[in-house]
Amino acid sequence: MQLARRLDQLPPYLFLEISRKIAEKRAQGVDVVSFGIGDPDLPTPPHILDELKRTADDPANHRYPETDGLPALREAIAAWYKRRFGVELDDKEVVPLIGAKEGIGHMALCLTDPGDVALIPDPAYPVYAAGTMFAGGTAHLMPLREERGWLPDLSAIPADVAERAKVIWINYPNNPTGGLATPEFFEEVVAFAKEYDIVVCHDAAYSEVTFDGYVAPSFLQTPGAIDVGIEFHSLSKTYNMTGWRIGMAVGNATLVDALVRVKSNLDSGIPQAVQYMGIEALEHTAQEWHDANNEVYRRRRDRVVDVLRTIGLDVTTPKSGLYVWARCPEGWTSAEVATALLDEHAVVVTPGRGYGEAGEGYIRLSLTTPDDRVEEGLRRLAGWRLPQRPA
Ligand SMILES: *Cc1c(COP(=O)(O)O)cnc(C)c1O
Repeated sequence: MQLARRLDQLPPYLFLEISRKIAEKRAQGVDVVSFGIGDPDLPTPPHILDELKRTADDPANHRYPETDGLPALREAIAAWYKRRFGVELDDKEVVPLIGAKEGIGHMALCLTDPGDVALIPDPAYPVYAAGTMFAGGTAHLMPLREERGWLPDLSAIPADVAERAKVIWINYPNNPTGGLATPEFFEEVVAFAKEYDIVVCHDAAYSEVTFDGYVAPSFLQTPGAIDVGIEFHSLSKTYNMTGWRIGMAVGNATLVDALVRVKSNLDSGIPQAVQYMGIEALEHTAQEWHDANNEVYRRRRDRVVDVLRTIGLDVTTPKSGLYVWARCPEGWTSAEVATALLDEHAVVVTPGRGYGEAGEGYIRLSLTTPDDRVEEGLRRLAGWRLPQRPA
């Protein structure tokens, strides 16, 4: 059998590899604690599940949905953007997605022809690069560095690369680094995009998972952003809904229309009962619920940061997201740390290298593990002795 060459270009999907390793250990009877994938352990709120139950019996919801979703869902998304960010969107500027991941992958097909350049952060959520590769494009990586607050240095992009680039991907609050965007940075991105005629794709999947009073901006609050950009959002992390697969893209109407055209040829939309869950989530989730949900992650974050510092790792306390991004001990690669922790303590962390070359030297710990397992993992981490450096 001959498979397409593009499959050979695909790096192993990071979390598949890790899941395989965990399964192997568990089959050997090892009690593994995972700080690996970011997938909320907390349940979807009951009022949202009730909406699924209410709508599941209606045969109208058993049929093919429209690719661009129920008008009521698009309205609920627009109303949420207005309430949350003060951003006004009309119906042509909104499209629901089968999760942000789906939209990001398909958006690459809208923007990248073979040979085109896409500007992609490094480290990054792997889907920007995977989508670019599937579309035949070439990634120009923008390293994210701690000393720049994990913001790319746009002035370091060579002019001839910027001239050829069709799209710039950015993601704030950032996964995996925890970096935050300032309004000034977003303004700089809009100016850069206008100068070089580049589309801006902003991934805002973590805007609602925030701590210590931090409120994340939308890229679309930036003057001129709607002329050049589209923002991807997700109900996954915001409402503990990763398993239901629902998100949205909002922004420039031409970009939204392009995405709908690609999607309508490849998928048939979000199951309608799940769309009703989305409407319910966006319209009727109390701020107190968000506060309580984020408080669970904040407590875990503080515990993890505390223990990592105790064992001598350098870590900045993140104000957003589901992850702690910690610097590896001097002289260790991220894979060496991850392997040592798994083999010696049955603790899973993600090597930063898996998010790109510039992620080397860091590990990521996800906070989406139940409290008692977090404590068990931390107990083991606290016993980790750094001098056992690999030969
Ligand atoms: C989790 C995540 C997503 C995916 O969200 P879905 O809506 O579940 O597909 C997108 N972007 C980033 C940065 C993420 O971490």
